[in-house]
Amino acid sequence: MLDGQKKDLSIYIHIPFCVRKCSYCDFLSAPADEGTKNKYVKALISEIKSCRQLAAEYLVKTIFIGGGTPSSLEGQSIAMILDAVRENFDLGREKEAGPEITIEINPGTVTRDKLRVYRKAGINRLSFGLQSADNKELRLLGRIHTFEEFRDNYRAARELGFRNINIDLISALPGQTLNNWLQTLEKAAALEPEHISAYGLIIEEGTPFFDSYGEEEPDEELDRQIYARTKEYLEGAGYYRYEISNYAKQGFVCEHNTVYWTCKEYLGLGLGAASLLGNERFHNEEDLLTYLKYSENYLNTRRDVKKMTEMEQMEEFMFLGLRMTQGVNKKVFAGKFGRSMQEVYGAVLKRSQLEGLIKEKGGNIYLTDKGIDLSNMVMARFLLN
Ligand code: SF4
Repeated sequence: MLDGQKKDLSIYIHIPFCVRKCSYCDFLSAPADEGTKNKYVKALISEIKSCRQLAAEYLVKTIFIGGGTPSSLEGQSIAMILDAVRENFDLGREKEAGPEITIEINPGTVTRDKLRVYRKAGINRLSFGLQSADNKELRLLGRIHTFEEFRDNYRAARELGFRNINIDLISALPGQTLNNWLQTLEKAAALEPEHISAYGLIIEEGTPFFDSYGEEEPDEELDRQIYARTKEYLEGAGYYRYEISNYAKQGFVCEHNTVYWTCKEYLGLGLGAASLLGNERFHNEEDLLTYLKYSENYLNTRRDVKKMTEMEQMEEFMFLGLRMTQGVNKKVFAGKFGRSMQEVYGAVLKRSQLEGLIKEKGGNIYLTDKGIDLSNMVMARFLLN
C-alpha cells in the first residue's frame, strides 16, 4: 500500500510504573520491582507485534510514551519497545520528516547514558514533569526530585542535542500564592524550553491530597489571576497559548496532544491505555496480571468498546476542539457530519457570542478570554442531550 492511501495514526504507549506515588496522583501507576517491569516490557512488545495486521492500514504520525514514569525503565527497554513499533507499524520515511516521538521524564530518573539511548532510539521530544521550581512545593506534592536535579537533567538533554523539550507545571497548589507560581513560571521559562504545559491542580478523590485538602473551596479569583498572568508572562517570553493550558514557541505545538483535541485516530498500547479508532472508543485492561496474561492478542485486552453515536461525535468535536485557541472550523464540521454547525448549534452559538464567550474568525469559532475563564460552563452548552 502507498503512504498516500494509509490513514494517519498516533500511538500512545503507557508505562504504569513510578518510583513512588505522588500525593496528588490518581493515574494508573505504581512502584514495581525489576522482574515485574521486565515482564511488562515483554507483554507490551507482544501486544505491539499482535497489531501487525491492524497497523497495515495506517501511517504513524506521532508516538507518545507516557505514564507513570517511562524513564523509570532501563533505556534499553524503551529502545526495544520502539524497535517493536518500527518493525510492525509504518513510520514513514523517518530520516526526512519522521514522526514526533515523545517520552515523559520524571527528573531524577535519567542519566546521560539513558538520554543517549533515547536519542539513538529516535526519540525527538522530551517532556519533563517538573511541576514546581520550589523544593518546598515539590516535597508537598510528594515528588521524588528537587529543582536542581531537574535542571541538571535538562542541561544534559540540551547538551546531547534534544531540540524539542516540554516542561510540565502545576499551579494552584495548596497554600501557593500568585507570586510563588510566577517564580516557578519564571524559572522554567528562563531555561527556554520549546513548550510549557501549565495545568491547575485538580484534587482527585482517593489521593492523600484529597484527605488533606479535598474539603477546601477552590479560590476561583486566584485561579483566574493565575490563568491571566500565566498567559501574559509566557506571551512576553515568546510563547503562544494554543490550548487552554498549553504554550509553545512558534513551530513547537505538541502534535500528539493536538490529535486528542481534534478527534483524530489514536491507538493506546499497554495497561489501561485509551484508544479512538474510527468511531470507537475503548481502553485496555487495567489490571496488571490480567494484562500480562492476555497481551499476546491486542483484541483480548480491549475493554469497554463503545461505538459513538453521531451526536456524541459532534459533542466531542466541539468541546475538545474549543480547548484549542484556534477553535473549531465550520467547514470541517460540515464535511465530517454532513450538517452545518449552524443547523446543530445555532442557538448556542448565538447566545455564547452575544455573551462575549466565543467569537468567529475566518470560519473558525473560538473561545474568547472570558470564554476560557468560564470554559467548563461554555463547553457544557455543546452537549446535545
Ligand atoms: S510521577 Fe506522575 S504518574 Fe507517577 S505518581 Fe507522580 S504524578 Fe503520578
